[in-house]
Order: sequence, then C-alpha cells, then structure tokens
Amino acid sequence: MVCKKEPMEREQVIARYLSRALDADGVEEFEAHYLGCDECFDELRVSERLAEDLRSSSLWWKQTSGVSVLQFKSNAELTHSAQELDELRREVLEQSDSRVIIDLSGVRRIDSAGLGQLMSCYSHLVKNRGAMKMLNPGPEIRKLLDMTGLTKLIPTFQDEQEALNSFK
Ligand SMILES: [Zn+2]
Repeated sequence: MVCKKEPMEREQVIARYLSRALDADGVEEFEAHYLGCDECFDELRVSERLAEDLRSSSLWWKQTSGVSVLQFKSNAELTHSAQELDELRREVLEQSDSRVIIDLSGVRRIDSAGLGQLMSCYSHLVKNRGAMKMLNPGPEIRKLLDMTGLTKLIPTFQDEQEALNSFK
C-alpha cells in the first residue's frame, strides 16, 4: 500500500496524535490507517522514540532576557559515562544562542570528565563570540570548582539576576 499522505501532513498528524490533540474521529481514522501503512507506521515509531527521549531528558533550557539558561534535573551527575554529560555536550554544541548560563543547582557530583566538559563548553561558546557563566553550585561542587580554578575562568554566581546582569 502506498501512502497518500504528504510527508509534511504525516508529520503533523503524528505530532498531533502523540500530543493527544486529535479528536476521537481523528484518532480512529489515524489508527486505522497507520496500522496498514508502513510509512506512517515507521514514522510513528521514530516520533514516539523522540518524544520518549524528550521526556527522559535530564536537562532543559529556559530563556530569560535573551540569555539561555541550562538547568539539570535534581541529583544530576556530571561524571564520566553519565547521561547528563552527553546531553550537556550535545546541547551546548548545538546551541545557536551563545550566551549561556549553566545552572548547577541540580548537580550533585562532578568528576574530571565533568570539569573537562564544562571547560570545553566554555571554549566552544567563547570561540563563537559568546559567553558562559555558571550559576548556583551547591557547597561541595563550589569547593571543587574553586579548587580546580574553574571559577577563576568561568564567572560563577549564586544569584540568577546577577548572572543575567553580568551579560550586559
Ligand atoms: Zn500512511
């Protein structure tokens, strides 16, 4: 069976289906169709996985006064082989706005891999004429950042407003 849906239309229907924005008739029609349609079926599987990834993500962005603030879920670990570290790398390298605050309040552990990653995020952003600040590390994390000299390189704030103002 060849699908008559245009790719754009298929994407939209699937997005609406997954976000439960279709009405009952729409759901019924879609479910009847996609079970018999390889293209729609495959597309739905991929989209479902993406939606799942999004939900299980350990960090997210918020935009405040033209600055992107990256936040971690609580008890995050910036350690070798931690999912958070991978996501940090990916997110910051893909970031097009180069003014970034890394909110560390949810982070409970950092090791040398985590410190190295923060450093390379910082140099990536600076190379792209941006800036990076760190916000709100807990006492243990703060001690480590101070000890390793990272806070000398990357301005670190305890107050979000101060961090935001420092970009002006
Ligand atoms: Zn189809």
